[in-house]
Amino acid sequence: MAAEDLFKNVISHAKEYGFIFPSSEIYDGLSAVYDYAQLGVLLKNNIRQYWWEAMVRLNENIVGLDAAILMHPTTWKASGHVDAFSDPLIDNKDSKKRYRADVLIEDHVAKLEAKIDKEVQKAEKRFGEAFDKEQFMSTNPRVLEVKERSETILKRMARSLEAEDLADVKALIEELEIVCPVSGSKNWTEVKQFNLMFGTRLGASAESAMELYLRPETAQGIFVNFLNVQKTGRMKIPFGIAQTGKAFRNEIVARQFIFRMREFEQMEMQFFIPPGTQKTWYAHWKEARLKWHLSLGLGQDNYRFHDHEKLAHYADAAADIEFKFPFGFKELEGIHSRTDFDLSRHESFSGKKMQYYDAEQEKSYTPYVIETSIGLDRMFLAVFSASLQEEELENGSRTVMRIPSVLAPYKAAILPLVKKDGLPEISKEIVDALKYDFNVIYDEKDAVGRRYRRQDAIGTPFCITVDHQTIEDQTVTLRHRDNMQQERIAIAELGQVLQKEVSLSSWLKKLEA
Ligand code: ATP
Repeated sequence: MAAEDLFKNVISHAKEYGFIFPSSEIYDGLSAVYDYAQLGVLLKNNIRQYWWEAMVRLNENIVGLDAAILMHPTTWKASGHVDAFSDPLIDNKDSKKRYRADVLIEDHVAKLEAKIDKEVQKAEKRFGEAFDKEQFMSTNPRVLEVKERSETILKRMARSLEAEDLADVKALIEELEIVCPVSGSKNWTEVKQFNLMFGTRLGASAESAMELYLRPETAQGIFVNFLNVQKTGRMKIPFGIAQTGKAFRNEIVARQFIFRMREFEQMEMQFFIPPGTQKTWYAHWKEARLKWHLSLGLGQDNYRFHDHEKLAHYADAAADIEFKFPFGFKELEGIHSRTDFDLSRHESFSGKKMQYYDAEQEKSYTPYVIETSIGLDRMFLAVFSASLQEEELENGSRTVMRIPSVLAPYKAAILPLVKKDGLPEISKEIVDALKYDFNVIYDEKDAVGRRYRRQDAIGTPFCITVDHQTIEDQTVTLRHRDNMQQERIAIAELGQVLQKEVSLSSWLKKLEA
């Protein structure tokens, strides 16, 4: 299926099966805002929990926090968001469409890089078995030329953005002859900076009301609480604080479903370390986070690191874990070495000391920070799009969502073969026996084959079918979602099978193994 169709399929499947709806749809929706429906909320909760437990439960030096969305407005001056949290935007005068200037340039580079993929495919065909991709990539003149061109473009863009030279960003767009995807014209406005924070007001009377912002990231709630947590939790450096919660950004271009939303959820962890150790800890968290992703089994080829050329004002190193979404490789998670920027700034803006006394080193210092920051909604999209598969069968085809079983909304569906002869009663006893440990669903409507298909389409790893033999020997048919194989097992064994295959505890053990 073409990438575009695949993405359309993801969006329509999410709606049709009750995962994601547009927000306030009866009023025609609100741009880039979405609601999680009955199955979506289960999948989202499971992703959040898998992240949370991997961070907070498995690391004895990481604790949690749930800070408020509204924060004192000086927070955002100190963090740099009032001055610097903006994107460079550019309008096309003919289509009146607005774009992020950096994204236009990056998309241009992505098209160049797609040419490399084509060259590789051609060469693969030509050389067959003897093809050595690495050698080809490092010696083929056309590939090398495209690679160099891409790098030159990205370096120049990074330099101009860093120096706030927006005229040069526009010049680059013109030199590359980038056209508006809608109007096809090169009739561009100047590039301007646009602040992404949503403003709001606290208090009722006009005079006393305070201008606030909805937080654009959860991280600052962690920084301002650093000393509170460190002292009350008697935490010794190195230690981390993890938090999940809503963040808000008035994104300029927000049209990739839940990839770029105006209201979204982040899962962030700030790890406080002695100055000078940031290289080691940065490498550690890059590796640990990739391991977490790979543990879900969505395929190693779907991930790659992208090390940043252009560093944010607070960072001395930064990398993205990119995921192969239906529209190409894009950022899923960021890992940032933030130095002591945040704590120092809060110290100077609040006048309160943000230092830590290190008993081993017998001195006080402002800790450095390594941050891991992932969008829960982007993670949802990654899991959802990689799991959704159309499979050809001998007698037709099926839609199956191979959601990692620890994340699946329902772990098992309990299906009486027919709606009589006592089969529903036994099925409900099985539901009652399993429901305290696992989220299971009972379904007695339609022929059993159709019920299997429906469970495949929502990613339920197991179907448990109760038939007349069950009355005689207390066994059921256990059907596996991924290979559709069926086996006969005793009702008494169901709990153990589910525990091993789908429980959070066994997945966490695998992650640590
Ligand atoms: P991008 O370059 O895609 O705008 P970013 O670099 O601004 O992302 P960060 O500020 O590093 O993103 O935020 C950390 C994570 O939060 C991102 O890796 C992403 O998963 C998520 N995220 C950021 N903005 C959005 C958004 N508008 N909608 C959904 N998730 C988002």
